Amino acid sequence: MTSFATLILVLSLTSSAVFITHASGQTNTTTGEDNDNDSSEGETEAPQGASDLIEAANNGMVRLRSGPTIQFGDVAQPSAHTRNASPCTARGCTWPKGFRGYVFVPIYISRRYSRSERNVIIRSLVEFHRVSCIRFVWRRRHRDYIYFHPFSGCWSYIGRQGGRQFVSLQQRGCVDSRVIQHELLHALGFHHEQARSDRDNHVRILANNVLPGRLHNFNKVNTNNLGTPYDYSSIMHYSRFAFSKQRGVLPTIVPIPVSTAVIGQATRMSGNDLKRLNKLYQCRGY
Ligand SMILES: [Zn+2]
Repeated sequence: MTSFATLILVLSLTSSAVFITHASGQTNTTTGEDNDNDSSEGETEAPQGASDLIEAANNGMVRLRSGPTIQFGDVAQPSAHTRNASPCTARGCTWPKGFRGYVFVPIYISRRYSRSERNVIIRSLVEFHRVSCIRFVWRRRHRDYIYFHPFSGCWSYIGRQGGRQFVSLQQRGCVDSRVIQHELLHALGFHHEQARSDRDNHVRILANNVLPGRLHNFNKVNTNNLGTPYDYSSIMHYSRFAFSKQRGVLPTIVPIPVSTAVIGQATRMSGNDLKRLNKLYQCRGY
């Protein structure tokens, strides 16, 4: 709790340099409460991975009249682009490097969130400081920034869009560190793991088991994999029953060659997620 008070203090006292002081590598006390996530091995029955949470929250998602189209379950599409276009994934709509090799990503958190919801968001942001050169800062005069807002569902654009870009975290089901890390990896430029260009070597998509009208969620994308291996435990990987006609019975994603391998149950960023992040942003020393 002390650490949490410190965090709030840091936030309220600093301006654009928000989290920096907190993030320079000393013991990470802010994530102490999340340690029970470590016991997630052999979790075949635990439907608590990021992707399941997102799918559950997005089940009743209400389309905004003027909002973006959502593809792949939780990926907002820039209006000018067609369904398959994810230029950011291939080309890299990254956030620019700032001084001392840090990548400063300005953020704003909607006033609609309660104090405790705000704190969950902030804590998830600070986790990135511990493991990468990403530094979230309060948006002041920055042109490009991420705006967390409780629209319907959990979703994000992929990569920096230019100007204000929303990350939607509806209050019920999305204000959760697992979901927030997943959505932020989208905003930092990453697509789903099973959308990777090389995914057919690692998983089979069982189209017949997919809910009608949802097969497009399994499209492949010309991703930049940054030389990292395909990773079943990526927080960006869907679960075995993602968009299944019958969850628990009809799998939609089956690993190859070991069909029983656990997939899509990550509760935090995997080693490969971090490697990829640090490669894309050329973070040194992480
Ligand atoms: Zn996603």
